[in-house]
Amino acid sequence: MEMTDQVNELLDSSKLIDPFSRHITYLRLSVTDRCDLRCTYCMPEKMKFLNKKEVLTFEEMYRLCSGFINLGIKKIRITGGEPLVRKGIMDFFEMLKPHLSQDLEELTLTTNGTQLHRYANQLYENGVRRVNISLDTLDPMKFKQITRLGKLHDVLLGIDAAKDANLKIKINCVALKNINDDEIDRFINWCVTKDFDLTFIETMPMGDIGNENRLNHFLSLNELKKNISSKFELEDTSFSTGGPAKYSKIKGSEIKLGFITPLSHNFCSSCNRIRVDATGVLHQCLGQNNSLDFRQILRSPEYTEKDLIENIKKSIKQKPERHSFSYDFSRDHIEGKIERHMSLTGG
Ligand code: SAM
Ligand code: SF4
Repeated sequence: MEMTDQVNELLDSSKLIDPFSRHITYLRLSVTDRCDLRCTYCMPEKMKFLNKKEVLTFEEMYRLCSGFINLGIKKIRITGGEPLVRKGIMDFFEMLKPHLSQDLEELTLTTNGTQLHRYANQLYENGVRRVNISLDTLDPMKFKQITRLGKLHDVLLGIDAAKDANLKIKINCVALKNINDDEIDRFINWCVTKDFDLTFIETMPMGDIGNENRLNHFLSLNELKKNISSKFELEDTSFSTGGPAKYSKIKGSEIKLGFITPLSHNFCSSCNRIRVDATGVLHQCLGQNNSLDFRQILRSPEYTEKDLIENIKKSIKQKPERHSFSYDFSRDHIEGKIERHMSLTGG
């Protein structure tokens, strides 16, 4: 049989269904581990980044994405580190754009927003329609405290540019006890006024963060939701992206309010996603160490498309049932901590 026939047969034989009957349709790809901020819950102040040669080239990432799309991936989210600090990043969006008019339904981005004022229009031109922007506070001093290096003004400028470019915006906010829990009402009202969806995230025990202790600022979203419900009328919705967020609506507004509660609520049974980090390692679960190294496959002198497709299928067969991290407050202890940083896999 010719190689192309073998590849076609492999593509036809099955889509990406894991051993727990979950249909995998969503790829999150981290294009860099580098970032222009140093958020205290994400990384230490003196973060050590990868060497350039360890990071996949755009050509390698494109081959990998195409393989996934051919096997039924419908949505790709570009993330990082901060994806918009990678040099030439718009070239990569441009490479993926043609898939949008064929077999890819959505191309999205998660960003800290600092560079959005430069790129919002180009993102739209390249087929992006929705962006997730991470913002934990509307207070300039607290913003500096949380991000160590950032200026709130730059992010607000980026958000305005994204809105002007007609990108639909969702704000991601990490809930931090004694840091931003006193401004949650203001935050919600701001999102309602601006028509931004808003998702709260619990801190997850991923990677060393130097002298900081995540437990000190861990805020249970069950607690937060109770607090919000006492001030806003919330209606539960059945809306789902197949991911960890549970969504509510605030009565009288159109915005969706999401709660990502990996530690206080288990979301694994409906997980439809896999992640590839900037080095080409595929992580089957954010909260486990199972992985498969695609860089080795992509850079092999014997590389074939058939090999790539077979390994993508193999990686899905190894997806674990659930993550295993949790906080044990009674012992001031984090169970199942993952050594890699969220900035490597992109959240
Ligand atoms: N730099 C971009 C940003 O901040 O949006 C993309 C990458 S960042 C790792 C993706 C998301 O992960 C952000 O919303 C960030 O707040 C969140 N995040 C980072 N470290 C986290 C942690 N340890 N626990 C929970 N969320 C985390
Ligand atoms: Fe950078 Fe995003 Fe991590 Fe903040 S959360 S340090 S913006 S990668």
